[in-house]
Amino acid sequence: VYAAVFPALFSPIEQGQSGETLLADTDASCFYHPGKKAKVICEGCGRFLCSLCDVEISQQHLCPACIESGKKKGGLSALSTRRTLHDDLAISLALLPLLIPFLGWLCTIATAPLAIWISIRHWKTPCSIVPRSHIRYVLAIAFGLLQLIGWMIVLILIVKRK
Ligand SMILES: [Zn+2]
Ligand SMILES: [Zn+2]
Repeated sequence: VYAAVFPALFSPIEQGQSGETLLADTDASCFYHPGKKAKVICEGCGRFLCSLCDVEISQQHLCPACIESGKKKGGLSALSTRRTLHDDLAISLALLPLLIPFLGWLCTIATAPLAIWISIRHWKTPCSIVPRSHIRYVLAIAFGLLQLIGWMIVLILIVKRK
């Protein structure tokens, strides 16, 4: 068995270049430029890239096609142009229903678990660009738990009365 490892796998990464011209037949060439020498491998699709096609985003080497598809799918967090403030959403879900007597209180059976779930699910999601504490998540979880305890007491009372 003969295994040939492409030198591009181990060569140091050079940036801002137009790509080295392929000299020997044994060298791997860029997927997009057959005449240029491969420097890196795209971490998205595994294609060989020359230094012109190599784009480094948050320590990831990607080809233009992967960046384009990442933009469409929203998978590249470094390219995102908007962020959802999940902590605001969680605390709103935990508190706003309480403002509407009866109907809102009834809604808490659904909104309280949702507030807790959002808080835990997005605890580590990058929130705002400016530093922000987790106090809203903590409060949302606390109020959500209190509401659930309230519901449990109500349900126990209903069951006992029967
Ligand atoms: Zn790619
Ligand atoms: Zn190229």
